[in-house]
Amino acid sequence: MDATTLWFIIGGIVLAAFVVVGVVASRRRAELRRGRDTRQLNSAGGRSGVPGEFDATSGSGSVDVLESPDDEVLEAELVPEPDRPEARASRLARLRRRLAGSNSALSRGLLLLLSRDRIDEDTWEDFEDTLIASDLGVGPTTELVEALRARFRIEGVDDPAQAKAVLRSELLKLIDTSMDRSLNTERSATPAVVMVVGVNGTGKTTTVGKLARVLVAEDKDVLLGAADTFRAAAADQLETWGSRVGVVTVRGAEAADPASVAYEAVRAGIEQEVDVVLIDTAGRLHTKTGLMDELGKVKRVIERQAPVGEVLLVLDATTGQNGLTQARIFAGVVNVTGIVLTKLDGSAKGGIVFQVQRELGVPVKLVGLGEGVDDLAPFDPEVFVDALLDSPA
Ligand code: GDP
Ligand code: MG
Repeated sequence: MDATTLWFIIGGIVLAAFVVVGVVASRRRAELRRGRDTRQLNSAGGRSGVPGEFDATSGSGSVDVLESPDDEVLEAELVPEPDRPEARASRLARLRRRLAGSNSALSRGLLLLLSRDRIDEDTWEDFEDTLIASDLGVGPTTELVEALRARFRIEGVDDPAQAKAVLRSELLKLIDTSMDRSLNTERSATPAVVMVVGVNGTGKTTTVGKLARVLVAEDKDVLLGAADTFRAAAADQLETWGSRVGVVTVRGAEAADPASVAYEAVRAGIEQEVDVVLIDTAGRLHTKTGLMDELGKVKRVIERQAPVGEVLLVLDATTGQNGLTQARIFAGVVNVTGIVLTKLDGSAKGGIVFQVQRELGVPVKLVGLGEGVDDLAPFDPEVFVDALLDSPA
């Protein structure tokens, strides 16, 4: 073999190697591009307006950016699709069981009436005492007892099944089945804006995360706004929820003005034409007037761009009367449109549902029944009352 042939062979091998490398690289690029398109990343994957202040990060957490030799920017780390929410029917069945397992004090109080052979004056008194002790409140208890006594007398109720049916209908009357408990999450000219307010630790951030998941499961585009800027950890917590659920979180710098973060979140929501913007707020010390005023400001500032369709007050069911005091103060600052009662799984006192609604004239719309992603349920009075009356108290 002469030298020229040898050079031809070497040249051929080098050329073939280049072709193979080129094909592999272009396939990989196409794959990455496809992955990027299918992910639910919004256009605000980077900055969202005010430079250096706001950061709309994708819900999918950090995306490593690699630069290829030919300067094309590739996103190397493909983030998995968020997992699917539990089906609605099985979620409701599971939550119903959990509800039935809670509320034992109220259930015991109610079932006490059904367990007695003869209902005398002492029975009514015991009944009244246990209901008050289970956070049903003096007003609702008195009303319930009076209605029951009258009906038992007039209708001559004398067997447990009949008593239970009367009890059921009076409890439903007390809970007011005519209240509109639907959430206002329909987009109009602008995204539906939902503000979540309440005292620290009641479960606001968790509720925002769970609610985002419910909405995503309904095929809605959702964006989260981290207007709790008091602690960096608060925005991190919300962003973690965002990435679990697969939605974008808009956050500000630590100690940024909560109203401006809320404003930016809604602006990003309008720009990206999302269906719903959920605004998480800081746990107000409801005793501090200045902080409460700030909450009013957050709402007013948002409303320069889009109406706030829903203000959800989150109350921890385990805090009883204290929750009521909070509710009154919040209602004085923002127009509360719905109540989320959390930790009903850990409370033996579901009676607070009746009291808080009556106090504010605002319906309980959602209940939290655990710390898991699917542990949020729409509040259904019939399910609630049946759970109370069926629970093995
Ligand atoms: P925030 O300060 O109001 O934002 O409250 P977080 O959302 O941070 O929640 C405070 C704590 O309550 C967390 O440990 C949550 O996991 C827990 N939590 C929230 N909702 C529920 C619920 O419905 N049931 C139970 N058992 N825990 C809850
Ligand atoms: Mg929080």
